[in-house]
Amino acid sequence: MEKKYCIVGGGLVGSLLAVILARRGFRADVWERRPDMRDGTIEGGRSINLALSHRGFRGLELAGLDEEIRKLCIPMHGREVHDENGGTRFMQYGKDGQFINSISRGGLNQLLLREASKYPNIKMHFDERCDDINFRNKEISFYNTTTHQNTREKYDMIFGSDGAFSAVRMALMKSERFDFEYRQDYLQHAYKELSIPAAADGGWRLKKNALHIWPRKSFMLIALPNLDGSFTCTLFLPAKGEVSFEHLTTKDSARQFFTKYFPDALADMPTFDDDFFANPVSDLVTIRCNPWYIENTATLIGDAAHPIVPFYGQGMNAGFEDCTYLAQLMDAHNDDWHAILPAFNQMRKPNADAVADLALRNFIEMRDLVADPHFILKNKIAQKLAELFPAQWQTQYSLVTFSDTPYAEALSRGINNNEILEKIVAENPSIESRLGDTEFMMGLEKWVG
Ligand SMILES: Cc1cc2nc3c(=O)[nH]c(=O)nc-3n(C[C@H](O)[C@H](O)[C@H](O)COP(=O)(O)OP(=O)(O)OC[C@H]3O[C@@H](n4cnc5c(N)ncnc54)[C@H](O)[C@@H]3O)c2cc1C
Repeated sequence: MEKKYCIVGGGLVGSLLAVILARRGFRADVWERRPDMRDGTIEGGRSINLALSHRGFRGLELAGLDEEIRKLCIPMHGREVHDENGGTRFMQYGKDGQFINSISRGGLNQLLLREASKYPNIKMHFDERCDDINFRNKEISFYNTTTHQNTREKYDMIFGSDGAFSAVRMALMKSERFDFEYRQDYLQHAYKELSIPAAADGGWRLKKNALHIWPRKSFMLIALPNLDGSFTCTLFLPAKGEVSFEHLTTKDSARQFFTKYFPDALADMPTFDDDFFANPVSDLVTIRCNPWYIENTATLIGDAAHPIVPFYGQGMNAGFEDCTYLAQLMDAHNDDWHAILPAFNQMRKPNADAVADLALRNFIEMRDLVADPHFILKNKIAQKLAELFPAQWQTQYSLVTFSDTPYAEALSRGINNNEILEKIVAENPSIESRLGDTEFMMGLEKWVG
């Protein structure tokens, strides 16, 4: 009999996975807790965006959607860093022509769900919350949040793509296997989304093709552009403490805080008072768990397997990359899930751990270091070395964002790069004034070999 697969969670990763399975001719049901967003209603109604980069596009290629999705993106070539006096400095991400992409989260999810629905072998169920799984008889229970009906279905294989607080992961934890490891770390910082609307002429009030950062050492504001001329801003701030969300409880206190730290951004936020209190304060969490699978019955994928903090813009990209590697393993093992699931876990887990670390480290870089002269100098040297010695030297950012280099390797090479840059700066105190001196810079080759 034809096998039937179950995808729990029709978010970004679940809907991409549905398209990939559909194109391979598999029959799959997608069960999604939220209402159907294919008709145009995006929950929350706000325009929230994400940075999509190389690894994400690799997954989208498998679904045949990369070109269509590129048209919905705004390229961001670098960081536009805003200082406390309203001054700005642009820091390019990579070589000329390299960029990351701002895309609407809801728009992307909608497109993927619509695409999956085009295949007769994919069936969608909305308002259906997975409540429990019996892995022994491969039976999964759902609760319909509008009709209040319970449903039970049996499947040959279950994919848990139900996000950071996954019900499938919870069921794995409760299953009869006794080797499930789990660790959850909350960041002391939380976040709130705000908005800079389009200018009166419909254009962008800030530089369009950049990711904007207002670094303030222990906290920061960022903004990514949307196609409609607006920017989605995110304030990352400690949840508690002297300068924290717990003190921003009135319109006056929130306004005073922005007037002190982000006056230029505030001037571009006409709906600030309403937005600040309409939008929630949300947590940031890193979860590490292992193993992600049980026998040939179920696996976690995407945020269900590895929720990370958002500071490298890699959570969705890593989830889409999971789909790429899963598809490769399906080819290699002829769809034998007994072989695929452990191989997938073994291949992805060290890289999921590495991208979790990269994301935590990048928070310090974004909120603090991008304004630090020593960091800026090292960054300039690193970019120059990448230009002069492209075969021997790649920046960590490029390895993570513009390549398929495993995250674990990108992390270790980044640490090594930093040690080399420290030594170069220590041995060449006048290097800042010699960055344009090609002969001198070529002399640094011994460091990059
Ligand atoms: C503030 C912020 C900014 C981010 N920015 C970026 C970025 O720039 N670039 C990037 O790559 N990543 C970014 N991320 C990370 C990215 O959002 C996630 O990695 C990505 O959404 C993971 O996709 P997913 O499909 O695995 O999970 P989700 O997108 O969370 O989807 C899970 C789906 O499962 C459904 N679901 C949950 N529980 C159940 C259940 N019990 N039954 C049925 N359905 C269920 C949910 O409704 C949802 O639709 C950011 C995250 C945050 C918080």
